[in-house]
This record gives sequence, C-alpha cells and structure tokens, in this order.
Amino acid sequence: HSLKNSRRVTDNEPLLRFREAKKVLGDVYGELKDNVAELEGVYKEIKENDFVSPEQREEIEAIRDSIKTIMDTFQRDNMKVVFFGRTSNGKSTTINAMLHEKVLPQGMGHTTCCFLQVEGSEDEVGHLQLDDNPQKIDMKMLGKIGHALSDENSDLPAMGQDSLLRVFHPKQSDNGECRLLQNDVVILDSPGVDLSPEFDSWIDKHCLDADVFVLVSNAESTLTQAEKNFFLRVAKKLSKPNVFILNNRWDASAAETENIEDVKKQHLTRFRQFLVDELEVCSEREVNDRIFFVSSREVLEARLKARGLVQKAYQAEGHGTRALEFQNFERHFEKCISQSAIHTKFEAHNRRAHEMIGKMRLNLNSVLTSAAEQRSKLQNNLNEATRTFNECRVNFTQFEKAYRDQTEQLRAEVHLKVSADFFE
Ligand code: GDP
Repeated sequence: HSLKNSRRVTDNEPLLRFREAKKVLGDVYGELKDNVAELEGVYKEIKENDFVSPEQREEIEAIRDSIKTIMDTFQRDNMKVVFFGRTSNGKSTTINAMLHEKVLPQGMGHTTCCFLQVEGSEDEVGHLQLDDNPQKIDMKMLGKIGHALSDENSDLPAMGQDSLLRVFHPKQSDNGECRLLQNDVVILDSPGVDLSPEFDSWIDKHCLDADVFVLVSNAESTLTQAEKNFFLRVAKKLSKPNVFILNNRWDASAAETENIEDVKKQHLTRFRQFLVDELEVCSEREVNDRIFFVSSREVLEARLKARGLVQKAYQAEGHGTRALEFQNFERHFEKCISQSAIHTKFEAHNRRAHEMIGKMRLNLNSVLTSAAEQRSKLQNNLNEATRTFNECRVNFTQFEKAYRDQTEQLRAEVHLKVSADFFE
C-alpha cells in the first residue's frame, strides 16, 4: 500500500523521492516491529512449555532491538553533498546560491577555517554547534568563528581544520525556496584544498557517507594538483563517487576572453579526461551532465533580488545562458544525490529487513516443529492411555459379570438353604 502511494512522486521531484523512501521504509519497519512484538507476546504466554528455547526467545529480543536502532538511524539519514575547491573559487557563494540565501559568510579574504555543515533545523531561529557538542552557539558568531576558534581568550575550544562546525538553518524560514534543507539535504563546505594536505583524515571524517562531491573550480585557471590529488584519494576510498565540476566565475572569463568558445572546449576536454580517464568515476555519456560553466555570484544575486532582499543584482553579458546552466546543474545534482542516497542508505536497511524477516521465519518454523513433535508425543501417550483404559474396561466387564454370576449363585444357594430349613 505504501509503495503504491510513493508512485505519486514523479521524476521531476527527485528530492521528494528520498522522503518518500524514508516514509515507506518507516512503514515497513513499523509493521515489522508490530509483528516482532506480537511474536514476543506469544512466546511469553507459552512460557511453561519447553518448545520455545531460550536461544529462540533471545533471538527475537535481539531482532526487536535491531529494529529500534535501525529506525532511529534512518530517521537521521540524509542526502549529503560536499563542496571542494581552492579558497575563493566560490564554494560559499555557490552554496548560498543553491539555498537562495546568504547562509554562509563569503568574500575575498574570508577563509573557511574548518568544515562547515549546513543542515535544516525545526527551530524558528538558527544556531551553530561544534561537532556533536550539544551547546548551541549564536548564529552571529558564524562570521567571526575563524578568529574565535583560534583565540586563546575565547570560550570556544580550539578546533583543527578537520573539525566540524554545524550551521542549523531554520527549515521554515520566510525563504520558500529552501527546498534542499527542507528535504534532508546536508551541505558541507570544506576548507580550501590549497590550505591543507590532510586529505585522508578529511575524507575519513567527513566524506565516507557523502552522496555527491562538487568541485568548484575557477574558470580562469586550470585544475591544480592539490585539487586533483584530493579527488584521486576520494576515488580510491569510495567506490565510484559522484563528482560534479562547476567552472565558476564564468562571467569573468566570458567578459575578458575573446575566443571564449575555444577556452570552454579546452576546459571541457581536460575535465572530461579527469573524470572519465583519471578518476574513472563516470562514462563518456554521463560526463556531459557533470561539467557546468556558471556564475554563482550572478545566480545568488538574482535570487536575492527575486526575494526582495537586494535592490540590484550583478549581471554580466550572457548571464541568461549561465543562469540556465546553473539550473541545469541543480536538476542533475538533485537527481543524482537522491538516487545515490536512496541506493546506498535505504537499500542497506531494506536488506537488513529481509534478513530479519528470514530469521523470524526460521525461528517460528523451528518452534512450530517442536510444538508438532510435542503434539505427536502427547498423541502417542493418549493412544497408550486409551488402550490401557480399554483393557481396564474389558477386565472390569469380565469382573462385573463374574461377580454377578457369583452373587446369583450365592443367592440361589441361600434360597435353597432357607427353603430347605423351612420345609424341615
Ligand atoms: P570560497 O572561499 O570558495 O568559499 O569563495 P567565496 O564564495 O567566499 O567567494 C570568493 C569571492 O569570489 C567572493 O567575493 C565572491 O563574491 C566572488 N565570487 C564567487 N563566485 C563568483 C562568480 O561566479 N563570479 C564573480 N565575478 N565572482 C564570484
């Protein structure tokens, strides 16, 4: 029934498919939980009988606990995208453009000092948190956090570059376009790849559960070795990661370069080669939907203007095409992240549900077998008892007859004696 309902969500709304998948899985696990509870109840009621072994009871209890853990886990599951690139290539601007809001600080000179994770919050007011420390920090600190974290006089603990600052942004803000956060997308902004070579710990700590990687490149220059190295490590550690490349600041290139189409072709050739041949993360056919030439600044400003937050939006010649290209990127990105998250996150839960159902079936079957054995044993005992009883009855009948005969005889003898005495 739930699966049928999920078909309402069409391919045009890939982000919603993740939520639907979560709901369907929630229903499946809810039913599974009820069934396990029922079985546990039945096993409790028949406690006096020994055909449910302690191991079988324990197995059902273990399944009940796993179900609870898995249900808690997938309520927290999300779709995760990680942004990489050199400092000032426009990572924060791109994220803000996708959120239709200036959530992250951006601008020349600002250096993201640690990983910044933007996620949706049910609260009306946003807040910050250091990794899994539950203490809420005022959102105002976001712009200053770089200094605060390295300031010895600050209340905040010192944090390394691979540490995580979580930015909880209200899902229900007046920004009706906050679709990404409303639909469980979590966005991670990284320190510039030029700042630190600690890629392995970055990947292990923050990227193993990422569904999509976006490399924000500067269209005015080529990929650096640092950028390439990072993705080479990612491709080694994760099997076939989904990588998008945004050639950002394409407005600046277009304005300054005469033979812009040639430059674009050159970039395309290099990026295709990088994704298909070096990283081997996509095919020749897929690669066309992975590389985009955009201006995040134009898109962000246009979106802020559309919401009435700024009077004027920066636009260079040819902005319309770049805006369409950005939307095209978002379409492919949403489809990719939703497919990947459903595939990797929910298929595992689905497989676990199948395993548990299989175990329950075996458990129940062996209890039924031992119950049937007991029944046939009882039946044998009953047959035996009936036979003995029948024998008894036969014996009793014989005894009764013999007794009656004897009394008859006795009575006759007494009668005769009495009569004889009488006539004497
Ligand atoms: P980050 O360090 O990668 O997060 O880069 P930021 O997002 O902070 O951007 C650095 C600077 O580049 C900011 O001043 C942005 O306004 C500017 N910028 C970002 N994207 C673009 C773009 O597409 N075109 C132009 N012209 N400037 C941009």
